[in-house]
Amino acid sequence: MICPFCGKEMQQGILSGDGRSNVTFKPGEKKTGGFDRLLGIGKITAARHGLTTFTIDADYCPYCKKMIFDTEIKE
Ligand SMILES: [Zn+2]
Repeated sequence: MICPFCGKEMQQGILSGDGRSNVTFKPGEKKTGGFDRLLGIGKITAARHGLTTFTIDADYCPYCKKMIFDTEIKE
């Protein structure tokens, strides 16, 4: 993928981490709450969960220090 900010080639890779709970996003200044988590609200659909980890296919631009991935946020 070409970086939309600087026009250089981005590095394709896999973002990963501990997968014990869903990876979530909530607009505004507060993080996803426990009740939202229970209902699956704010879940990033790009995150694929294994037994102990999650992974997201992402592109990284080392020049702009930005990362891009496609996802939907569950409402
Ligand atoms: Zn860039």
